[in-house]
Amino acid sequence: MISELRLINELVKRLNQSLRLKEVFKFATEELLSIFKAEYCCISQLDKETDCFEIMSSNFPRIYKEFFPKDYGFNGLVYSTREPIILSDYQAYGKISSKFMEETLSRSLIAAPIIVRGEVSGAIMIAHREERFFSYDNYKLLQILSQHIGLAIANASLHAEVRRMANRDMLTELYARHYLDESVQKHQRKDEGGSLIVVDIDQFKGINDTYGHQIGDKILRQVSSIIRSTIRKTDIAARWGGEELAIYLPGADVESGYQIAETIRYRVAAETDPKVSVSCGIAEWTRDSEKISVESLFYYADMALYKAKNNGRNQTHIGLNPEL
Ligand code: GH3
Ligand code: MG
Ligand code: MG
Repeated sequence: MISELRLINELVKRLNQSLRLKEVFKFATEELLSIFKAEYCCISQLDKETDCFEIMSSNFPRIYKEFFPKDYGFNGLVYSTREPIILSDYQAYGKISSKFMEETLSRSLIAAPIIVRGEVSGAIMIAHREERFFSYDNYKLLQILSQHIGLAIANASLHAEVRRMANRDMLTELYARHYLDESVQKHQRKDEGGSLIVVDIDQFKGINDTYGHQIGDKILRQVSSIIRSTIRKTDIAARWGGEELAIYLPGADVESGYQIAETIRYRVAAETDPKVSVSCGIAEWTRDSEKISVESLFYYADMALYKAKNNGRNQTHIGLNPEL
């Protein structure tokens, strides 16, 4: 019992050394292999989007990152019963087919669900090619270890979620203003240039007055989603203020910025419901010109936006940077 407690203590210590989810899975796999002197181990996690088990970590590379239906194999059994399993001979059992067991040519298995806040969130499978390899004590120990692994995974997941949310705007799921600010500053230190687009919804107050704030919010989300699906992964879209959104395009000149802004403007006019339009202003900076700060970049983009509004809205203007 003392050696078992020592083992648990060591495992928990190692698991909590990292708050990175990937590392927690990796540590857990390594530790389990060594604790049970097993040949193969895999840990899966239930993916909410696909409703499938995804293999998050394994020393058998062929199944790493694979997806399996929720009712498939021993993962499926563990999921539906919420109970651990001990199997002395897979070949003699024959009731469940398992890619993990087949491909590793394993015969012995112990498996356990990972339960987080009362729900099965994943499963652990540990296998060996010899039959009757695992003892009943192994099976009981895995049951205990899986609870600690579940806690470590839950902690790391929460941490990742908090990190993600700290930089996001809740309503639009775009980045928050401070994140955009910091990113532009970082890019200005290493890049040769870049462009900033500010997007403002036209007569948005009227939308709120006519349809109510909830529909207004829906429009804001629609416009944000159009922006997200128009820009590249490396571009940064943020909620700049109420109904003002901003996009930083690293390395882009005003001409390509203009193309992006126009695509967004056309799509907003075509795809929003109830229909709204947007006005856009763009400014660029280059290393050749006097270095311009984030503030002045926004200032020039904002001046351009102001012109677009004054000129009748639903259009894109380019900010004149006197230093260019
Ligand atoms: P313009 O074409 O000149 O931009 O007209 P506008 O009505 O859009 O401009 P204004 O800046 O006067 O009004 C912005 C409105 O945006 C006022 C505010 O009620 C609304 N707004 C700001 N944030 C939110 C939000 O999160 N949700 C909703 N529904 N409305 C918002
Ligand atoms: Mg507006
Ligand atoms: Mg505004």
